[in-house]
Amino acid sequence: MSNSPKAENLTWHQTAVTRTDLEKLHGHKGVTIWFTGLSASGKSTLANAVSVALYKRKVSAYVLDGDNVRHYLNRDLGFSHEDRMENIRRIGEMARLFTQAGMVNLTAFISPYRSDREMARQLQPESFLEVHCAADLAVCESRDPKGIYKKARNGIIKEFTGIDAPYEPPDNPELRLDTGVLSVDQCVDAVLDLLEQHEIFIIR
Ligand code: ADP
Repeated sequence: MSNSPKAENLTWHQTAVTRTDLEKLHGHKGVTIWFTGLSASGKSTLANAVSVALYKRKVSAYVLDGDNVRHYLNRDLGFSHEDRMENIRRIGEMARLFTQAGMVNLTAFISPYRSDREMARQLQPESFLEVHCAADLAVCESRDPKGIYKKARNGIIKEFTGIDAPYEPPDNPELRLDTGVLSVDQCVDAVLDLLEQHEIFIIR
C-alpha cells in the first residue's frame, strides 16, 4: 500500500473550528488510548469500563472496538498480514480524527505487530498512549468467551494470534497491566492515573 493518495490535485482544508476550540468546549484534551493484547486479554472490557468512568466525569470518550469496525468500515479486510496492517492503518486514521475532534478515543484491537502499532502512533505521536493488556496466553485461553481459541487449536480458525500467528508485545508501552491478575477496577484506576499524568483533564 502506497503512502501517497491515489487522487491528484488535492487541497488540505483547515477546519473553521479547530481541535483547540473543541478541547476547550469539552474541557479536556483529545487523546487516543490504544489497548493491545491477545484475544480475551480484556481490551474491550477495560476500554468500555474506562469509557464509563470517563463519562461519569463528563469526559467525551468513545470506544472503537475490533469486531464492530470489521463489520462495516473494514468489512473488505481479512486476517492476512497485509489485511491486518491495512486494518490498523485505517483504525489509526480514525483514532486520529477522533483526537482532532477533541475526544478521548479508546481502541480495542489485538494489533499484534509492533510495526503496525508504531505506524498508528506516528500518525499522532503527541496524543497516543499505548496500554498493553498483558494477560498471558494460558489465562486468555482459559477464558475463551467466544470459543475461538478452541477452534484455533482444532485448526478450524487459521492464523489465530497467539496460536499460529505471532503477538509482538510492546517494548515500551505507556502502561502495561497484567489483566490476568488485576481486577477490572484496578485496571481502570491505572488508566485514569495515566490520563492524569498526561494532563488530559487539564485545559488552560
Ligand atoms: P478482548 O477484548 O481482549 O478480546 P474481553 O474484554 O472480551 O477481551 O475479555 C475477555 C473475557 O475476560 C471476558 O469474559 C471478560 O469478562 C474477562 N475479563 C476481562 N478483563 C478481565 C479482568 N481484568 N479480570 C478478569 N476477567 C476479565
